[in-house]
Amino acid sequence: MTILGKSHKTTKKKLSHLEKIPKKPLEQPNALDCVHCGAKRFHLEPPNFCCAGEEVSFVIPPMLYDIMRLYCGLVEDSTEFRKNIHTYNNSFAFTSLDAKYDHKLTKNMKRVYTFRVQGQVYYFLNSLKPSADPLFGIQLYFYDTEEEFSRRFDVSPRLHESTVKLLMNVLGQNPYAKFFKGLRDIPNLEN
Ligand SMILES: [Zn+2]
Repeated sequence: MTILGKSHKTTKKKLSHLEKIPKKPLEQPNALDCVHCGAKRFHLEPPNFCCAGEEVSFVIPPMLYDIMRLYCGLVEDSTEFRKNIHTYNNSFAFTSLDAKYDHKLTKNMKRVYTFRVQGQVYYFLNSLKPSADPLFGIQLYFYDTEEEFSRRFDVSPRLHESTVKLLMNVLGQNPYAKFFKGLRDIPNLEN
């Protein structure tokens, strides 16, 4: 009787846990776009988070035909670009996302992938001069075209040669990429 009573209790407890699982996603209330720069904001994100109340202004380069073609085209290089868009983005990003996060949960591939962070999520800009291989992020902008091209493949060999060349050409006109590339001519960069 006791054993039966116990297992009945456990099943009931398990069921009550199951009943607590939400049936639909938790939706955050809408937040208004930033009135200064038009950035989309999350609910409770401070009003000066994006452009510090217009103190920081951004250059928004026009969408070039070649980039539009990669996003919308039906030919092989466009579909390959969209399939690996995350890798392309990581390869050319100036910074990376960083936070104090729970490594145990992110490595747990058996259950639902969970990314849990504590505190603020921020952008990490690594040192301009590399201390070890492979190079990463902004460090790749410090080489001449041929060297930069081959080093990008060292980091991500599955990228398409023609797409990498195209993106490098487009970024050659980007004011922020130009600025970073220009830093290599500064003497005593370490200081
Ligand atoms: Zn703003």
